[in-house]
Amino acid sequence: MRTALARTRTVVIVTILLWLAHAGVVAALGTKPPGGLLSDVMQLTLGIVMIYAAVQASLRSEGLARSFWRLTAVAYSVWLIAQSLSVYNDLAASPFVSWVNNLLFCFWFVPLAMAMFLDPEHEAGHLDALVALDFVQAVLVCVAAYLYFFYLPKADATGELAHSVWTPYFAGYAFVAGAFVVRAAVTRSRDSRALFGRMGIFLAFSGCIDALYFYGPGRGLRTGAWFDLLWSALLVVPILIAATWKQAEAPEFSFDPPRREKRIYTEIFFMLYPLLVLFMSLRIARERLGLAAAVVLLSFVCSSARQLVTQNRLLLTKEALRREASRDGLTNLWNRKAILAILERDLLRAERDQEPVGLIMIDVDHFKAINDSRGHAAGDAVLRIIASGIAAVVRPYDSVGRCGGEEFLIVAPGCGMTESWELAERVRTHVAGCNIMVGTSSVQVSLSLGVATGDTARDMEKWLHAADTAMYQAKHAGRNRVEPTLGRAASAGQGPSDAPNRDFWL
Ligand code: GH3
Ligand code: MG
Ligand code: MG
Repeated sequence: MRTALARTRTVVIVTILLWLAHAGVVAALGTKPPGGLLSDVMQLTLGIVMIYAAVQASLRSEGLARSFWRLTAVAYSVWLIAQSLSVYNDLAASPFVSWVNNLLFCFWFVPLAMAMFLDPEHEAGHLDALVALDFVQAVLVCVAAYLYFFYLPKADATGELAHSVWTPYFAGYAFVAGAFVVRAAVTRSRDSRALFGRMGIFLAFSGCIDALYFYGPGRGLRTGAWFDLLWSALLVVPILIAATWKQAEAPEFSFDPPRREKRIYTEIFFMLYPLLVLFMSLRIARERLGLAAAVVLLSFVCSSARQLVTQNRLLLTKEALRREASRDGLTNLWNRKAILAILERDLLRAERDQEPVGLIMIDVDHFKAINDSRGHAAGDAVLRIIASGIAAVVRPYDSVGRCGGEEFLIVAPGCGMTESWELAERVRTHVAGCNIMVGTSSVQVSLSLGVATGDTARDMEKWLHAADTAMYQAKHAGRNRVEPTLGRAASAGQGPSDAPNRDFWL
C-alpha cells in the first residue's frame, strides 16, 4: 500500500518536473536548434511515463477498470510509436514513414475507444476474444476508409498528407469523447462513471487544443514553439488521472446476473465490417492492388476467426448444458433422470446379449442424525465423500447415480446376482471403512444396500422395486449390510465389524 503511494508520488513529481523542464527548454531555446528536438524528446519521455502510469493503474485495478487502463496503455504506446516516427521524419524525411506516422496519429486513440465495449457487470478483467476481433475489424474499416477517402485522392498530388488527416481525426476524436461522456452519464457503475467521465472530459479538452493548433493560434508554428507546452500538458493530465486512480468498488460477481437482452440485429454490424472493407478495397485495388489485397485478407481472417470462436463457444456451451442436465450438482454423479436412462439403455442391451444387469440400491444409514448433530454443510460434505467412495470402487463400465437425498443407484451391466452382491459388498466395506473427522470428533458412516438383477427393459420398474425392497430389508435387518444375503455372506463377515482404514478431515 505504502509502495503504491510512493510510486504515485514519484510519478506525479517526475511528470511535473518534466513539464517544467520542457517549459525551460521552450523559454531558453524555442524553435532554435536543438530546441525542437529537445521539445520532442521531452514529449516522448512524458509518453513513456504515461504508459507506465496506465500499466500501474491497471495492476492496481480489477474487472472493467483493469481492461480500461490496459487499453489506455496500448493507445499511448501507439501514440509513442507515432511520435517517435514523427521525430525521425523531422530528422530524415521519408514519405513512407510520414504515411505510417499519419495513419498511427489518426487512429492512436482507437484502442482507448474500445473501452466502450467493456461491460462492468460481465468483465472478468480480460478482453473478450470476440470483442478484440470486432475491434480489429473496426480498425480495418478505418484503415480502408482512410485509404479510400484520403490517401488515394492525395496520392495524385504527392506531398502533404498531414492536412487530410485532420478531418477524420477530429471526427473520430469528437465521437469517442462524446461517447465517453454519454457512457459516464448513463452508467450505474461508479468506477465506469469516474473512468469514462474523466477521460471523456480530457479527450474533449485535448480535441480543443488540437483544433487550436490546426485552425487557431497554433497554426504554422514550428516544433519547439510555445504551443508544444500545451501538447505536453495533454500528456500531464492523463498521467495525473492514471496515477491518482483508485478503484471504488469490487467487481460484482453473481451467479445469475440480470442480463440485458442482446438482439440478434446487433450482430449485423459485425457482418457489415468485412462488406465495407470489400467495397472500399475494390476502388483501392485499382491503384494499390497489394494494399487492397492485404486489407481484404486481414478482414477475411478476422471474420473467419470470429466465426470459429463463436462456433467453439456454442459447442462448449452445448456440452456444458448437456453435462449440467445429467449431473447431480452436489456429488457430480449422474442425476436420477440420467441414471434411469442409463439403466434402460443397459437393460435393452442386456435383452439383446441375454446377459443380466445388476441393480444396487443404496441408502446411507442414519444420515439425518449426521445432519442434526454436525450441521447440513457437514452432511453435504459427508455425502460427497460417500459418493466419491462409491464411484471409486465400481468398475469403469458401471454407472453410479444419486436417486435422491442420500440414496444412490449402481447399474452394473453383465453382473448376475453373485457378481452384483460382491460389488455391493465391496462398496459397503469401503464406505464403512471411512473415518470422517468433523472438527475434533469422528463420524462413522455405513450403507444399507439392496441388490436385484434384471434382463428386460420393459420390466425396469419391477427390477427397481426389487432392489428397493431388498434395501429396506437390509435396513430392517440391522443396517450396514447387503440384501438379499447370499450363502457366502456369513463368511464375508457382514455387519458393522469393519475397521476404519481411510481418514477424511472436514
Ligand atoms: P435411515 O437409516 O433409516 O435411512 O435413516 P436416515 O436418517 O438416513 O433417513 P431419513 O430418510 O430419515 O433422513 C434422510 C435425511 O437425509 C433427511 C434429509 O435432511 C437428509 N438429506 C437429504 N438430502 C440431503 C442433502 O442434499 N444434503 C444434506 N446435508 N442432507 C440431506
Ligand atoms: Mg433415504
Ligand atoms: Mg438413510
